[in-house]
Amino acid sequence: MKFVLASNNKKKIVEMRRIIAALSPDSEILSLSDIGFSGDIVEDGETFRENAIIKASVPASLGYIGIADDSGICVDALGGRPGVYSARYSGMGDEANNEKLLYELRDVPDGERGAHYSCAIACVFPEKYGIAPVIAEGECHGRILREYRGAGGFGYDPLFYRDEEGCTFGELSPEEKDKVSHRGIALSRFAALIRPILKEIEENEA
Ligand code: IMP
Repeated sequence: MKFVLASNNKKKIVEMRRIIAALSPDSEILSLSDIGFSGDIVEDGETFRENAIIKASVPASLGYIGIADDSGICVDALGGRPGVYSARYSGMGDEANNEKLLYELRDVPDGERGAHYSCAIACVFPEKYGIAPVIAEGECHGRILREYRGAGGFGYDPLFYRDEEGCTFGELSPEEKDKVSHRGIALSRFAALIRPILKEIEENEA
């Protein structure tokens, strides 16, 4: 079976490949460029779920099973911002995003700095399968520090502190992060939902 991952984020592609390969060992996992798609995908959904479906629908419209994720951070004191705009919050990349977040929260007291990461993963099938999109979501709650801690992870991780682990996501190993992260949770829910569907498709195609 062929899957197309609709993402340009190398770290995400590695994670998703690992999961899909475990679910369907004989599968072929392609990227958008492998199928000759070089256009921009306009992520104009209002939720992570909508954006994940928009991205996964691109390969599906070209006859491939499409898989995509969308994620971001929602900060309580900012009314849930930056949310779906997390990657584009400052318009100048991860470091500037973190600086902007610290600046926006400069007067917010310690007890009101709650935030959560959110992730939605969608699988969209080509029309011929007649299968509705499969979507799984995950959240991970913590709070935003006033200074950076740790060099691991990416994006907002050095500012995202978890009382449960007693450290930021930037201080966790990838394996430790996967166990509690929004993406780890969404991926395991996704695996449980998609496994029986893939089995049925494989049986029908055998
Ligand atoms: P996406 O590629 O459109 O899903 O954008 C995700 C953005 O949300 C990233 O660029 C990061 O800014 C932020 N983000 C999502 N997940 C994480 C994470 O696990 N750690 C740090 N930042 C994250």
